[in-house]
Amino acid sequence: MPELPELEVVCEVLRRRVVGETILDACVIPPGGPIVVRDLTGSGFEAGVKGARITRIARRGKFLVFSLERNAAPLFLVINPKLTGRLKLAAAGEKRRAKTHLAFCFNGGRELRYIDQKQMGQVYLAVDPEQAPDFAGMGPEPFEISLEEFRLRLKPFRGEIKGVLTRSDFIAGIGNAYADEILWAARIHPYRKRTQLTADQVNQLYEAMQTTLRDAVEHVRAEMGEAIDTKPRDFLAVHMKSGQPCPRCGTPIALVGANQRITNFCRTCQPGGLIKGM
Ligand SMILES: [Zn+2]
Repeated sequence: MPELPELEVVCEVLRRRVVGETILDACVIPPGGPIVVRDLTGSGFEAGVKGARITRIARRGKFLVFSLERNAAPLFLVINPKLTGRLKLAAAGEKRRAKTHLAFCFNGGRELRYIDQKQMGQVYLAVDPEQAPDFAGMGPEPFEISLEEFRLRLKPFRGEIKGVLTRSDFIAGIGNAYADEILWAARIHPYRKRTQLTADQVNQLYEAMQTTLRDAVEHVRAEMGEAIDTKPRDFLAVHMKSGQPCPRCGTPIALVGANQRITNFCRTCQPGGLIKGM
């Protein structure tokens, strides 16, 4: 799933390429389009966005928020790509790829498209971003939280630390992949309970979160360029690197779980799981 680093760079590109544009037309393409698109204004998605000007694009957690200007009333497109959603900037006349569910058309025939292999993500039209499910309860952004605040927010959670890191009500923007990366950088076993972490480990976790995410934004920026439908992740240290040598110590990277719930870590650098054999 796109997480903070990817969405941050997608947001930068869209700010350059799309802010200031007027949406001349919006095509909701069946059969997936009507599943992906959710009108929370009650007055119709296509009618709402047609003729609207995009004035601002921001990232919040794993959401992208487009501010639209139309008849002076505030209006927002809130995109939650979830596991499989992607955005794509298409030149005039470029063929629409399969699983394109939504296309915003701009002057000169350029389009911003929403592609989603499994129609898991959503594109909301709302009068307030907080209308979108899971938006209002989000915790702070990783780059905006102090160490002190991080410690305080961590306290009420008692479960496995990886599970805590991926909770958007704890902190926004971290998913399965970057939780693995952060924990590897902090040398903490993903199944350690929060209650087992020392004060030093909490400090390490905070530092690792900052450096891992900042470095990732730079890597993604360099590799993605304007191809915002891609998800560059070859540079990751452990996530999806099962069996490859740990970049720090050479131990083959361990794998627990399956499908979208894979956890990768290094048994040497991140010792001490709770369950025997982990
Ligand atoms: Zn290692």
